Amino acid sequence: MEEKLTDIFGSDVFNETVMAERLPKKTFAALKKTIDNGEELDPMVAEVVANAMKDWAIEKGATHYTHWFQPMTGVTAEKHDSFITPAPAGKIIMEFSGKELIKGEPDASSFPSGGLRATFEARGYTAWDCTSPAFLKRDAAGVTLCIPTAFCSYTGEALDKKTPLLRSMEALSKQAVRVLHMFGDTDVTNVSCSVGPEQEYFIVDKEKYLKRDDLIFTGRTLFGAMPPKGQELDDHYFGSIKERIAAFMKELNTELWKLGVLAKTQHNEVAPAQHELAPIYATANIATDHNQLVMECMKKVANRQGLVCLLHEKPFAGVNGSGKHDNWSMVTNTGKNLLDPGKAPHENTKFLFFLAAVMKAVDEHAELLRLSASNPGNDHRLGANEAPPAIISMFLGEQLEDVLEQLISNGTAASSKQGGKLSTGVHSLPVLKKDATDRNRTSPFAFTGNKFEFRMVGSSMSMAGPNTVLNTIVAEALCEMADELEKAKDFDKAVVKLIKKTVTEHKRIVFNGNGYSDEWIKEAEKRGLPNVKSMVEAVPYLTTKDSIEMFEKQAVLTKTELESRAEIHYETYSKAINIEAKTMIEMASKLYIPAVIKYTKNLADSILAVKSAVPGADVSVQEGLLTKTSALLAKAQKALDDLKKKDTEAAKKEEGAKQANYFHDTVFPAMEALRAPIDELELIVDKSVWPVPTYGDLLFEV
Ligand code: ADP
Ligand code: MG
Repeated sequence: MEEKLTDIFGSDVFNETVMAERLPKKTFAALKKTIDNGEELDPMVAEVVANAMKDWAIEKGATHYTHWFQPMTGVTAEKHDSFITPAPAGKIIMEFSGKELIKGEPDASSFPSGGLRATFEARGYTAWDCTSPAFLKRDAAGVTLCIPTAFCSYTGEALDKKTPLLRSMEALSKQAVRVLHMFGDTDVTNVSCSVGPEQEYFIVDKEKYLKRDDLIFTGRTLFGAMPPKGQELDDHYFGSIKERIAAFMKELNTELWKLGVLAKTQHNEVAPAQHELAPIYATANIATDHNQLVMECMKKVANRQGLVCLLHEKPFAGVNGSGKHDNWSMVTNTGKNLLDPGKAPHENTKFLFFLAAVMKAVDEHAELLRLSASNPGNDHRLGANEAPPAIISMFLGEQLEDVLEQLISNGTAASSKQGGKLSTGVHSLPVLKKDATDRNRTSPFAFTGNKFEFRMVGSSMSMAGPNTVLNTIVAEALCEMADELEKAKDFDKAVVKLIKKTVTEHKRIVFNGNGYSDEWIKEAEKRGLPNVKSMVEAVPYLTTKDSIEMFEKQAVLTKTELESRAEIHYETYSKAINIEAKTMIEMASKLYIPAVIKYTKNLADSILAVKSAVPGADVSVQEGLLTKTSALLAKAQKALDDLKKKDTEAAKKEEGAKQANYFHDTVFPAMEALRAPIDELELIVDKSVWPVPTYGDLLFEV
């Protein structure tokens, strides 16, 4: 019998309901204070919570616990410990102390640390993040209690993605509260950011996947010609969901609901075999943790069903890649969304103030935002003729742009355009209320009603990085604006003046047109907006004087932490391209070239056989094919030799920026040069000798 959804939702989460039930009133109240207001945690409280948590987990079948953290790899890490403790007479008891709850000690030297590990001791600590609830993971290992934690080095540097995110949330809250108090909202004590990540992914058949070394080793296809059909018919987007995919989605939803993830929408995306899942938004660090769980569950559930989930940003050339739209807003502890314009945005000074701050932040730190969405996979999307463009601009829509125009030219705004009614021309259909603003799908940073949607983030990335940057740059903008306001004698006058000044200074970032057009690239250049084309080009912006100053001022990342992150970015890039190059070399030498040689032999044999059977017979077809195939084969071999040489050369380069740039400028083009003749050969060579499943097999036969 199917369990009731309302019963299974959150059933594997040590959430507030469970805590209220199982913790003494005083302990619960103390813990709530830490969770809600960031007050320091009393070790005695931790002791009581640990015990309750253990009892709850064991009742649900748990044998182990783990500190679940997010090192700089971008994926999660865990080391399991069982609850067993020896007892007299060869027995055991199940124990879990407060100390074990709040602190763990994984060896930091085996995680990317970008030089921190050489300078400092290898020892690292994980610390309980009580703002994100503990949960149970169920798999073949049994049931494990997972405790979300932050991960730092012996000397306190953040070695993970969660710590800076939490710090950035504090920074944003501090500055936003400061501003709100000036507006007279003294009841606000905390501002949090809400995040709703829309997760795109591909699903392919596992048997076919296992025949593709490129998918196995790199997550994307490194070779492959386009099948006769791609996404040109637009028949996949929102199309009816195939049976196997529907079964996958069903099991996935159930898993996620048990974990308290508010999985909400699901649909087919634009590319064949591409889909999307979006949960209902949550506070940034919970949304980030949940998104990690979403990605992990997608892989696990797919695997159970003989499928494979591809989270790479560009698994297939020629069809759309996958992104992760980061829907972001700021909400007060009194429940007010600061990005909600209301019915009359022109009168909503507070909203206009926060809007101006976001404009200022995005304009002044566009390169950092761009970097926050950079990984080797996303280089295939951003700036590579795919959505969204690499240039950061902001879409505000007709209504807000009009309000800003009025502000800029008159100093105040007197009206807001309204949406009106939509008539379909069919009387039996309802008359719809129209939004005041259309949508713009091409904008990398779009205002969508009561939130911004940062569309550059890559599908495989952690939400932590982009939101850390977003929170920090907005905190910085709010801080600078608040500094100015504090000096003013007449707040009401000063605030309007400041909004006008800010939007005038930063209106160049607003663009409501088609972000994919060539005209926009020229226009953006005229406006002086940066066009950062690749990850390696973006990394240096992390450690400019301005960036360091801002991150340190907002107490989000220190100079050392920023430098280590830049180092990790370079390392990640070099390693990723190196693995791709090596995989290509292996596939070309051991699969494609031998297969093509076999095919040429078949052709040659056929020519000889036909000629000897019927002297003078027309063998021009076979000869033509043989000539063409042999030429491409020679081209492929030459490109292969060249790639081998360049990849070997890359290993000799100085690690860091130099090596990463060499991989980008030299090795990557050599990979493209090898792919071209092989893809051409795929269209000629007999399918029966082709050594791997094709795009057609992978994309259409799920
Ligand atoms: P669309 O594809 O039209 O952009 P979706 O429904 O797929 O919309 O995703 C929108 C996402 O934005 C969801 O995760 C939703 O919960 C989230 N969202 C809605 N309102 C807010 C808000 N105020 N702050 C942050 N995220 C929000
Ligand atoms: Mg969206």
